Amino acid sequence: MSLDGTYDDGNIFAKILRGEAPAAKVFEDDHVLAFMDVFPQAKGHTLVIPKHSSARNLLEEEPQTLAHLFQGVQRVARAVRAALRPDGLTITQFNGAVSGQTVFHLHVHIIPRWDGVPLGRHGEGGMADAGELKTLAAEIAAKIS
Ligand code: AMP
Repeated sequence: MSLDGTYDDGNIFAKILRGEAPAAKVFEDDHVLAFMDVFPQAKGHTLVIPKHSSARNLLEEEPQTLAHLFQGVQRVARAVRAALRPDGLTITQFNGAVSGQTVFHLHVHIIPRWDGVPLGRHGEGGMADAGELKTLAAEIAAKIS
């Protein structure tokens, strides 16, 4: 899907927001939802999405919603750091299929990084164990401040 197009409310993140698909939830407020990525590129890979949005990508989003989204990203990233003590955090966001985007509801990736551990390939890792994701989500959630 290119940068041009219309929002499809059948996408998996819209289903998670409506409670129609499961997610290992980390954090939620009036504006954003954070949950574990089921194909993590590293342990603790977390996604943050706007809750009230029909933007497929960053270019389409309202500035005020972006402000709330990135406040949420910072809050969750701090909790990921506190919970997992990574050496760094890779924060990414893709726009259009050619860039690597596979889900067309705006979202931001928070990926913890450790010295000597290469980043897993985007969209090519295996599916994580649901129980492990739930445990990680609880560990990160406990550090939200
Ligand atoms: P992107 O490729 O940037 O659009 O990112 C979409 C991300 O969503 C990928 O990293 C996928 O692993 C992840 N993903 C796909 N389906 C689900 C799901 N049901 N729950 C959590 N993460 C998902």
